Amino acid sequence: MKTEQVDVLVIGAGPAGTVAASIIHQAGYKVMVVEKMRFPRFVIGESLLPRSMEALEEAGFIDAIKEKGFQQKYGAKFVKDDAICDFTFKEQFTPGWTWTWQVTRADFDKALADCLESKGVPIHYETTVTNIEFNGSDSITTVEDKDGNTSQIAARFIVDGSGYGRVIPRLFNLERNSNLQPRKALFAHTVDERRSMADEPNRITAVVHKKGVWIWIIPFSTGVTSLGFVGDPEFFEQYPGTDEEKYRALLEAEPYTRERFRDVELVFEPRILQSWSATTDKFYGDGFVLTGNVTEFLDPIFSSGVTLACVSAQTAAKLVIKKLKGEAVDWETEYMQPTMQGVNTFRSYVMAWYEGTLDTIFFRKDPDQLIKEQICSVLAGYVWDMSNPFVNNHENALKRLARTIELTDKLNSSSHIE
Ligand code: FAD
Repeated sequence: MKTEQVDVLVIGAGPAGTVAASIIHQAGYKVMVVEKMRFPRFVIGESLLPRSMEALEEAGFIDAIKEKGFQQKYGAKFVKDDAICDFTFKEQFTPGWTWTWQVTRADFDKALADCLESKGVPIHYETTVTNIEFNGSDSITTVEDKDGNTSQIAARFIVDGSGYGRVIPRLFNLERNSNLQPRKALFAHTVDERRSMADEPNRITAVVHKKGVWIWIIPFSTGVTSLGFVGDPEFFEQYPGTDEEKYRALLEAEPYTRERFRDVELVFEPRILQSWSATTDKFYGDGFVLTGNVTEFLDPIFSSGVTLACVSAQTAAKLVIKKLKGEAVDWETEYMQPTMQGVNTFRSYVMAWYEGTLDTIFFRKDPDQLIKEQICSVLAGYVWDMSNPFVNNHENALKRLARTIELTDKLNSSSHIE
């Protein structure tokens, strides 16, 4: 069987895989990427966060992305009935990028992959990893191409960026259940001719439809808008008919979307995704590191997926370089802990969103400006800034703030009665 020798094998050409491959290649190592699909391919995850720009910049991708003319994103808006909470990334606590993009992922991921290839990193498309054998940190990976031919890749190190494919956790039984409830999304791309009815397109809008059910509205520069409903799987059962009938009934049921999306043309039949939350025992081992969705994926509400993918890949790539240079790497403190710091901060916000704690905070009248800026930094993806109390003490800070707001509201309303 044919065997090729590389320094680093990267599994998957999504954002995690391409960012890691590019940074390791820039350090002078021989890198190869294997990708199961042919690009462009559809994947969900269209709203980025400003913190992802730092990783994309270090990977040398920013110019290639700029050329695609994607929609620029300056903030995130949350809507509940008549209440609106608008975050603008310029008004954030942590210094950093104040904007990012809203992208059709098929085009975005292809732009990253093409840019990587132009830098000299080969990507083998329609090539699936079927087996890996480790001998110390060296490994032999077996791959199969679309015609069923198998070959082997000998590598000094493997970066697993296989996303929902979760190659290494599946092969080595590292998978663990997430502590988040299973949820379902019904979504489509719409030809958004009445977009001028809203103050868009340069932000994502998340609309609270009912407790535990929300809608994403992500406008693209092409005039197409991604719109999806997320909720408990049972919620969708009350709507009869095909997925398109359910989708249109939901658009009609929500006052925020009713007029703008009535009879809207769909670019594709509505699609369903569900039970996406997943996690892994540990994010590293002798000869490999897991990045992006393979580590842990939480929930779409705060658009954290691509950012966590890019940042984990950026961190992992630097440690792989260190390891290849023969320097000691403490994967637990240098990789696992910082990665979990980011994931756990977002986990607190995801839980607070579904519990309703964030409704109390987001939709209060006259919010405190400093607190708003600190929360805005989390929504921009700056979840490693320990000087931000809403990062450092994420879970308690949110609960305490919501309790204070509720108590103040109660006191105010009782003083009004008197
Ligand atoms: P991926 O982008 O999934 O790339 C992994 C690649 O690995 C794929 O191309 C795949 O084909 C390849 N692969 C898989 N198995 C193999 C194999 N055996 N051999 C070779 N290659 C393989 N994130 C956001 O940032 N913003 C959002 O607005 C957002 N919305 C979302 C909405 C929903 C409903 C869901 C479920 C997720 C959303 N996400 C969002 C999350 C986002 O989809 C992921 O976090 C992101 O795509 C992860 O990137 P990645 O590079 O880790 O994996």
